Amino acid sequence: MKYFIANWKANKNLEESEAYLVLLTQNISANQPILNKLNGGELKIILAPPAPFLPQLKFKIKDIKNIELAAQDISQFEEGAYTGEVTAKTLSGLVNYTIIGHSERREYFKEGEDILFRKAELAKRYKINPIFCIRSSEDKFPPQINLLAYEPVSAIGTGNNENPIEVIKIKDQLKLNPSTAFIYGGSVTQENAKLYLQSGKIDGFLIGQASLDPLQFIGIINHSLT
Ligand code: PEP
Repeated sequence: MKYFIANWKANKNLEESEAYLVLLTQNISANQPILNKLNGGELKIILAPPAPFLPQLKFKIKDIKNIELAAQDISQFEEGAYTGEVTAKTLSGLVNYTIIGHSERREYFKEGEDILFRKAELAKRYKINPIFCIRSSEDKFPPQINLLAYEPVSAIGTGNNENPIEVIKIKDQLKLNPSTAFIYGGSVTQENAKLYLQSGKIDGFLIGQASLDPLQFIGIINHSLT
């Protein structure tokens, strides 16, 4: 299974999100090779829009198999008097995935290992799969993580994607359980994506900037799988 995860971050309003979904679903429906891979369970496309748009977007993707939604984050609290928080319990039934530990959360919101491990535990408690991000082989991650995203800070949003050989070295250092999917993130584009998948050791991508345009996002999928 190859994963292509679009992290929209704090971009797009409702109208823009809906227009994105129209273009994305139209293009995928007209692309038989992508449809075959989605239907055959070889490919999963995961969209992580801003949380308020999740219900509308869920409705729009319901007819295409293996396009799913992720939250960009969840609360470290389970429920209660935490104004403004979006909890795993709130999101359960709405998303199958959540990003946890993105380097922006670590940097701007000072989220450390304890908080991130707690979030991963809460996600699992509510049947949400963590897409757990690490910045280097120094960052710890909880055992039994199914999806681990390696995102070196020097590559995020900079245009300096990390060489696939270096990425594979990091993967080898991590000594992952064979059932853990290892994905890469950091300035992935249509031009460089295929190089990562060719090795057979990288199971997909977490994509920021290039996922904001549905045609670029589909272009990455097309270029790397064909
Ligand atoms: C990210 O922020 O997760 C990311 C990989 O961003 P970009 O693709 O823009 O480097």
